[in-house]
Amino acid sequence: MLKETIFSKIIKHEISSDILYQDELVTAFRDVSPKAPTHVLIVPNILIPSINEVKNEHEKTLGRMFLVAAKIARAEKINESGYRLIINCNKHAGQEIYHVHMHLLGGKALGPMI
Ligand code: AMP
Repeated sequence: MLKETIFSKIIKHEISSDILYQDELVTAFRDVSPKAPTHVLIVPNILIPSINEVKNEHEKTLGRMFLVAAKIARAEKINESGYRLIINCNKHAGQEIYHVHMHLLGGKALGPMI
């Protein structure tokens, strides 16, 4: 049994967060420490610790994350100007929360990728 993360608690509304979207597969909420005018995290409702643990059965959920990213980008009016999607995996990428999440960043020129 995997240990629940802070994101599990947000998904279950056990701790407060600025949730923008939720359905049966994913939840999206604003990052508590935004790195850009729009900084949203899109998270599977089920706990997958990192991309290393992704399995075939997660395909629909992972696809939904992209659909929700595009939907939120439109809602935030950054779809035309552009945005960046980031998923960190493990130490070298600086992953802090071991619950897969996609960062949606935009609202200003983001500069070089790294
Ligand atoms: P990562 O480094 O990819 O694991 O990113 C983790 C992200 O989670 C960071 O950008 C944090 O600011 C964000 N974060 C941590 N705790 C919370 C929280 N309670 N609500 C929203 N975002 C959070």
